[in-house]
Amino acid sequence: MPSVKEITDLIVGGVSQQEQELIEKAYKLAEKAHEGQTRINGEPHFIHPFETAKILASLGMDIETIVSGLLHDILEDKKMTEAELKNEFGGEVLFLVKSVTGLGKLKYLGHERYVESLRKLFIAMASDLRVVVIKFADRLHYLRILQYLREDKRRRIAVESIEVYAALANRLGMGKLKGDIEDAAFPFAFPKEHTSVEEIIEVKKESYQKHLAEIKKRLEKELNENKINVSEINYRIKHKFSLWKKLLQHDMDIDKIYDVVALRIVVESIEECYRVLGIIHSIWNPLPGRIKDYISLPKPNGYQSIHTTVFTGGGGTAEIQIRTEKMHAEAAYGIAAHFAYKEQGSKKINKDKSKFKWIEELKSLNYAPNKPKVFLEHLKMDFFSNHIFVFTPEGDVVDLPENSSPIDFAYSIHSDIGNHISGAKINGKMSHIFSKLKNRDIVEIIKNKDAHPSNKWLESARTTIARKHIRSYLEKHSLLNRLRSFGRT
Ligand code: MN
Repeated sequence: MPSVKEITDLIVGGVSQQEQELIEKAYKLAEKAHEGQTRINGEPHFIHPFETAKILASLGMDIETIVSGLLHDILEDKKMTEAELKNEFGGEVLFLVKSVTGLGKLKYLGHERYVESLRKLFIAMASDLRVVVIKFADRLHYLRILQYLREDKRRRIAVESIEVYAALANRLGMGKLKGDIEDAAFPFAFPKEHTSVEEIIEVKKESYQKHLAEIKKRLEKELNENKINVSEINYRIKHKFSLWKKLLQHDMDIDKIYDVVALRIVVESIEECYRVLGIIHSIWNPLPGRIKDYISLPKPNGYQSIHTTVFTGGGGTAEIQIRTEKMHAEAAYGIAAHFAYKEQGSKKINKDKSKFKWIEELKSLNYAPNKPKVFLEHLKMDFFSNHIFVFTPEGDVVDLPENSSPIDFAYSIHSDIGNHISGAKINGKMSHIFSKLKNRDIVEIIKNKDAHPSNKWLESARTTIARKHIRSYLEKHSLLNRLRSFGRT
């Protein structure tokens, strides 16, 4: 039987009397409102908002969000009016529930409607990130009853969950949620591939665990002797879906993948992270090119850690990740991690939005209602493809899709810089404007007032913003040229 306690037990640091009462009130209300309704799997409907609230609590979300999770179907079912909801739970909960309701039920009425609902999602997200987190939790629980759906519908929802929801969670730095959504959707989206990944892991699992346990023991001893304050040391096996993606890049040969299992060391300070790295390298030799310092250079989604892969003798290798507690929480919960510190509440999250400039960009993504496929392509390219980050000579970070060129870089800074780019210095070396940029390149744009966009630029541009400006330049000038030639005759 579900209970309020199941939810409150998941809230780190416990709840105040007032919060307890608020959750109880929402719980009772939802239970009563959904009385007699059942879900496709025969369960009482109430289980759905209840489990959604539990997922939100386990993500460390604030009380308003958890309460909204419990109440998220209540307006839709017309069990309560907006005024009543506001009266009972306040404006913030009303806003969250209303926004989630506005995103609509999972109806798939062709491509256009689908794209439109995505757009709504982004707009809601830009006004309050908590809306999308509720939607993530709602979707994750929905994936758990997918087996009861018709096969074509099941597959479509599973694929969409991976392509949009998990991709979005990843961009928000919510690594755990991303992995959970992908793994829940994987068997329905790609059943055969899922089975083969499971088989591959099954063969290897035991030897991996034995190997990691030995390394862990050795490390614990060394760290202890060096008086490092270790708050946690454990290992994880890669999520199945990301393992599958890696397998595809490596001829389905699991022995070519270094991070199937990784050892994680969580320490108290950044200084200790680097000391631990030194200690590890004094025990085992590192593999060249596999030391990654995401502490001094975080990933575009904010992820921080030091990664290294070491030779552990007898032909074995191991990936080791070192991070602080704060980084550890943020790697799992991303933006939601900030809710763990209650006093900061929703104000903090709004400030943090500046970190996610791309959310604003998502909202304004050019959308032609008659071309939903184009919208989806832009979406995948600009926001969900692999990203690199490059630097201006001043050290500002610019976040770009893979295979971007100095042209994309220039337009992401300013359209005027883009329109007059004639060359670029990449890491101090003169380079062509069509060169492919790599992660961590330092790019300096050379401008020339006589340089201007051409069709070739348009073909090479990767970002929507660059394409948009180039296209509008070309259109404007071809029109001018026509007018000029008209004038001459
Ligand atoms: Mn729902």
